[in-house]
Amino acid sequence: MVVICDELQEVADLMCASAPRAPLLVKIKNTRRGYAHGRTGWVSVPVWATEERLEYAWYYVIHEVCHVLSGEHRHTAKFQALERRWLAAFGLVPVYRGVYPGELQSTTGRTLWSELRSKHLRPRVPRIGSYRRRAAGQNERS
Ligand SMILES: [Zn+2]
Repeated sequence: MVVICDELQEVADLMCASAPRAPLLVKIKNTRRGYAHGRTGWVSVPVWATEERLEYAWYYVIHEVCHVLSGEHRHTAKFQALERRWLAAFGLVPVYRGVYPGELQSTTGRTLWSELRSKHLRPRVPRIGSYRRRAAGQNERS
Protein backbone atom coordinates (compact mmCIF):
# COMPACT_ATOMS: atom_id res chain seq x y z
CA MET A 1 0.00 0.00 0.00
CA VAL A 2 1.24 3.47 -0.85
CA VAL A 3 0.18 6.71 0.77
CA ILE A 4 0.98 9.98 -0.96
CA CYS A 5 1.77 12.76 1.48
CA ASP A 6 1.16 16.32 0.24
CA GLU A 7 3.55 17.93 2.68
CA LEU A 8 6.51 15.70 1.86
CA GLN A 9 5.65 16.06 -1.83
CA GLU A 10 5.90 19.84 -1.45
CA VAL A 11 9.39 19.47 0.05
CA ALA A 12 10.50 17.32 -2.91
CA ASP A 13 8.87 19.68 -5.42
CA LEU A 14 10.70 22.66 -3.96
CA MET A 15 14.02 20.81 -4.12
CA CYS A 16 13.48 19.56 -7.68
CA ALA A 17 12.45 23.04 -8.86
CA SER A 18 16.01 24.16 -8.09
CA ALA A 19 17.53 21.46 -10.32
CA PRO A 20 17.33 20.72 -14.05
CA ARG A 21 15.13 17.70 -13.61
CA ALA A 22 11.51 16.62 -13.57
CA PRO A 23 9.66 16.46 -10.24
CA LEU A 24 9.88 13.31 -8.14
CA LEU A 25 6.82 11.55 -6.79
CA VAL A 26 7.01 10.96 -3.02
CA LYS A 27 5.53 7.69 -1.81
CA ILE A 28 5.02 6.72 1.82
CA LYS A 29 5.60 2.98 1.93
CA ASN A 30 5.36 0.31 4.58
CA THR A 31 9.04 -0.59 4.28
CA ARG A 32 12.03 -0.63 6.63
CA ARG A 33 13.92 2.06 4.75
CA GLY A 34 13.48 4.72 2.10
CA TYR A 35 14.44 4.49 -1.55
CA ALA A 36 15.46 6.91 -4.28
CA HIS A 37 14.69 6.05 -7.91
CA GLY A 38 15.83 9.05 -9.89
CA ARG A 39 15.48 7.43 -13.28
CA THR A 40 11.90 6.30 -12.78
CA GLY A 41 11.11 9.50 -10.90
CA TRP A 42 10.11 8.62 -7.37
CA VAL A 43 11.42 8.47 -3.83
CA SER A 44 9.90 6.69 -0.87
CA VAL A 45 9.77 7.39 2.86
CA PRO A 46 8.91 4.56 5.26
CA VAL A 47 5.69 4.91 7.26
CA TRP A 48 7.58 4.70 10.57
CA ALA A 49 9.55 7.86 9.68
CA THR A 50 6.29 9.78 9.23
CA GLU A 51 5.27 8.77 12.76
CA GLU A 52 8.25 10.62 14.17
CA ARG A 53 8.35 14.39 14.60
CA LEU A 54 7.43 16.24 11.41
CA GLU A 55 11.00 17.53 11.16
CA TYR A 56 12.25 13.96 10.96
CA ALA A 57 9.89 13.18 8.07
CA TRP A 58 11.21 16.30 6.32
CA TYR A 59 14.76 15.09 6.96
CA TYR A 60 13.90 11.71 5.50
CA VAL A 61 12.47 13.01 2.23
CA ILE A 62 15.31 15.54 1.92
CA HIS A 63 17.78 12.67 2.37
CA GLU A 64 16.19 10.60 -0.40
CA VAL A 65 15.83 13.54 -2.82
CA CYS A 66 19.50 14.44 -2.20
CA HIS A 67 20.46 10.97 -3.45
CA VAL A 68 18.75 11.81 -6.75
CA LEU A 69 19.95 15.42 -7.03
CA SER A 70 23.58 14.57 -6.15
CA GLY A 71 23.60 11.48 -8.36
CA GLU A 72 25.25 9.71 -5.42
CA HIS A 73 23.86 6.41 -4.21
CA ARG A 74 26.28 6.45 -1.31
CA HIS A 75 26.67 8.91 1.54
CA THR A 76 29.72 10.62 0.06
CA ALA A 77 31.07 14.03 1.06
CA LYS A 78 29.31 15.49 -2.01
CA PHE A 79 26.03 13.91 -0.93
CA GLN A 80 26.38 15.06 2.66
CA ALA A 81 27.24 18.64 1.67
CA LEU A 82 24.06 18.81 -0.42
CA GLU A 83 22.02 17.23 2.39
CA ARG A 84 23.35 19.77 4.91
CA ARG A 85 22.49 22.61 2.50
CA TRP A 86 18.92 21.45 2.00
CA LEU A 87 18.37 20.71 5.69
CA ALA A 88 19.58 24.26 6.42
CA ALA A 89 17.08 25.60 3.88
CA PHE A 90 14.37 24.01 6.05
CA GLY A 91 15.90 25.33 9.27
CA LEU A 92 17.35 21.96 10.28
CA VAL A 93 20.87 21.31 11.51
CA PRO A 94 21.85 17.61 11.63
CA VAL A 95 24.06 16.20 14.37
CA TYR A 96 25.43 13.17 12.59
CA ARG A 97 26.08 9.81 14.20
CA GLY A 98 27.71 8.08 11.28
CA VAL A 99 25.93 8.80 8.01
CA TYR A 100 22.55 9.45 9.63
CA PRO A 101 21.69 12.14 12.16
CA GLY A 102 21.21 11.12 15.77
CA GLU A 103 19.64 14.49 16.31
CA LEU A 104 18.05 17.32 14.35
CA GLN A 105 18.43 20.79 15.78
CA SER A 106 17.00 24.17 14.94
CA THR A 107 19.37 26.89 13.75
CA THR A 108 19.30 28.21 17.33
CA GLY A 109 20.48 24.86 18.72
CA ARG A 110 17.12 23.61 20.01
CA THR A 111 16.66 19.85 19.71
CA LEU A 112 13.78 19.18 17.34
CA TRP A 113 14.22 15.43 17.05
CA SER A 114 16.52 12.98 18.78
CA GLU A 115 16.87 9.26 18.19
CA LEU A 116 17.13 8.89 21.97
CA ARG A 117 13.57 10.17 22.27
CA SER A 118 12.43 8.49 19.08
CA LYS A 119 9.29 6.38 19.10
CA HIS A 120 11.12 3.84 16.99
CA LEU A 121 14.47 2.90 18.48
CA ARG A 122 14.71 0.36 15.69
CA PRO A 123 12.93 0.87 12.39
CA ARG A 124 9.89 -1.33 12.29
CA VAL A 125 6.97 -1.74 9.98
CA PRO A 126 3.96 -0.18 11.74
CA ARG A 127 0.33 -0.20 10.78
CA ILE A 128 -0.52 2.29 8.11
CA GLY A 129 -3.67 3.45 9.92
CA SER A 130 -1.82 5.56 12.45
CA TYR A 131 -0.30 7.64 9.67
CA ARG A 132 -3.71 8.22 8.15
CA ARG A 133 -4.96 9.67 11.43
CA ARG A 134 -2.07 12.11 11.42
CA ALA A 135 -2.66 12.97 7.80
CA ALA A 136 -6.25 13.82 8.73
CA GLY A 137 -4.92 16.46 11.13
CA GLN A 138 -5.68 14.62 14.35
CA ASN A 139 -2.14 14.63 15.66
CA GLU A 140 -1.23 16.46 18.81
CA ARG A 141 2.09 17.87 17.62
CA SER A 142 2.71 21.43 18.73
ZN1 LIG B 1 20.86 7.31 2.03
